[in-house]
This record gives sequence, structure tokens and C-alpha cells, in this order.
Amino acid sequence: MVRIQDLTFEEYISEERIFARTSQLAKKINVDFEGKNPIFLGILNGSFMFLSELFKQITIECEVSFLKVSSYENQTSTGKVRELIGLNKSIDNRPVIIVEDIVDTGHTLAFIKDKISSFSPSKVSVMTLLHKVAATKIPHELDYVGFEIDNIFVVGFGLDYNELGRNHRCILAKS
Ligand code: 5GP
Repeated sequence: MVRIQDLTFEEYISEERIFARTSQLAKKINVDFEGKNPIFLGILNGSFMFLSELFKQITIECEVSFLKVSSYENQTSTGKVRELIGLNKSIDNRPVIIVEDIVDTGHTLAFIKDKISSFSPSKVSVMTLLHKVAATKIPHELDYVGFEIDNIFVVGFGLDYNELGRNHRCILAKS
């Protein structure tokens, strides 16, 4: 059992299973993108550990970059304004692979895909470590999924609870 602030968590997906699945996904990318020189776009902060583990096993020519979704309250109107920070590299006519930690309702991914598409990449593929299928509000075609999980709150391997818990080596579920 792991305690983070007021919550307790139990191991849900072991480090061994994460590594094994990441290797399988890397092998698939190495085949699917051979000779295509894709750009991996990691979505910060959650995807940093997954992307680093994956990237070590990519053997084809490729690039990596990171994007961050920032959200803030608009001063003049109600509601949140979101921005995608870091999209300063030319992805025109290049295949991009978005790398997410988790797809929950699908709202964040819809926003990211929309922003990225305005730069006219040749192809947009999506990889996510985790997918909460039952939580879907906006369905997406997810090309590479590590694990489909239950509709529960998870932390670890890059994912946080109030910015804490990202350093755990496995995925933990709230007990
Ligand atoms: P969506 O827009 O798909 O509903 O949510 C995506 C974002 O919500 C993720 O990038 C992540 O930051 C956060 N999120 C959703 N579910 C979880 C979860 O179970 N644990 C953590 N730590 N973050 C989550």
C-alpha cells in the first residue's frame, strides 16, 4: 500500500508488465514507421517516463519533442482557456506520433489533435500508455494502446496526484 496525501493506492500494473508492453509497442513502431522519420510528440508532464522507456527501444530514424497543455481561467469570460505550448518545430508534411500517458474522456486529446492538425502533418498517430474505455466522451482512433484500464484513478510511472506520485515505478490504483 502507498499513501499519497489523503489517498491510498495499491499496485495495479507492475513495472515488468509496463516494460514488456512498451517493448511490444516499440517493435511495432519500428516496423510501421521504417524509413518515415516520424516525430514523437510527448505530452507533458505525464508521458515523460513512458516516452523515455519507449524511445530507448526505437531503432529507426526519428525525432522527439515535447508539448504541454496549459489551462487557465479567462479573466473576461467564464470558463477555462487552453493552450498548447511547444509546437514550434515544423511538423509540416511529417508523420507525428502523439504520446500520451492516459486517455480518459478524450477531451484533452481532441484539443491536441486539433492544434496539431493546423500545422498540416502528413499523418497523426496516437499512442497512449493507458486508456479508460468506459470513461469515453469523445471517441478517438487510438493506434497504439498500452493497457485498457477500468474507470479508476491511477498514479505512478509519470502520472500524478496533486503533482505527487509520478516517481513510482509501477501504475498504482486508488484503493
Ligand atoms: P481527458 O481529457 O481524456 O478526460 O483527460 C486526460 C488527462 O486527465 C490526462 O492527460 C491526465 O492528466 C488526466 N487524467 C485522467 N485520468 C487520470 C487518472 O486516472 N490519473 C491521473 N493521474 N491523471 C488522469
